[in-house]
Amino acid sequence: MLYLGVDLGGTNIKAALVNSEGEILCEANPPTNLPRPAEAVCDDIAALCLQLAEEKDVAGVGVGCPGTVDGGTVLYSNNLDWHDFAMEEYLAQKTGLPVAVGNDANVAALGEAWKGAAAGAQNIIMITLGTGVGGGIIINGKILAGSHGAGGEIGHALVVRGEEEKCNCGNHGCLEQYASATGIVRVAGRVLAASEDDSTLRELQNITAKDVLDAFKAGDAVAVRIMEYVGDLLGGAIAGFTTVVDPEAIVIGGGVSKAGQPLIDCIEKYYQRYAFSSCKETPIVLATLGNDAGIYGAAKMVL
Ligand code: ZN
Repeated sequence: MLYLGVDLGGTNIKAALVNSEGEILCEANPPTNLPRPAEAVCDDIAALCLQLAEEKDVAGVGVGCPGTVDGGTVLYSNNLDWHDFAMEEYLAQKTGLPVAVGNDANVAALGEAWKGAAAGAQNIIMITLGTGVGGGIIINGKILAGSHGAGGEIGHALVVRGEEEKCNCGNHGCLEQYASATGIVRVAGRVLAASEDDSTLRELQNITAKDVLDAFKAGDAVAVRIMEYVGDLLGGAIAGFTTVVDPEAIVIGGGVSKAGQPLIDCIEKYYQRYAFSSCKETPIVLATLGNDAGIYGAAKMVL
């Protein structure tokens, strides 16, 4: 039996035909062409699915979608500018196939638990460190979507009390405000302003997260201080989540994770300090599927 996995992004619609062993048989990657109404984008997705499926026996379509997804309905997507769109129902009607829609970060976690860094694991936590901080929790091989579609919204866990700047979600002190690419830049600004210590970062006009991570890996003392602060918050937050999930592995993905093992070591150091004794051995690993995690996870949703 074959399955269609679709990863809907703000720039591209990534779709693939996958078999039950998780091998990609064919794929396509057309532009999303935003801004467009949800129906127009879904008409393209449906046409793409039928084209990839040809006359083959396809069991269903899984879709990862940015935003809050509850019961197959996209309640809100900032990236797509969609509100209350019954995507599952619409796509099922257009394709004549069973459809499952999930939040993209949750779906990516399912992909990593199936074919990626935690292949074969039944229980994992995945944290995606990108422009924001996304998360996905897999329990007994299934996505924990929660009762409002907010399951796995790890980026909005409170990690700093008394923060004055506001998070995108409206709260103050969320993990995303420190551990996302934009968060790392914000922390960098604060740490640089708090001392006059020499740093290669002071020579730069507009500091990016990559600049901070490169300087951190080169041993720049101020960059090390910035990343120790971020690692402390991440390690502490992950230690807290593991007391709820007790996962087999914690997977770190997203653009920031391109910093590689030095980033993992920095998180691990603080994780060890804060983790509950039974969870101390739980490995923290880098995601391995990159941009393909979404199509694998989407296909797995209908498998
Ligand atoms: Zn927040």
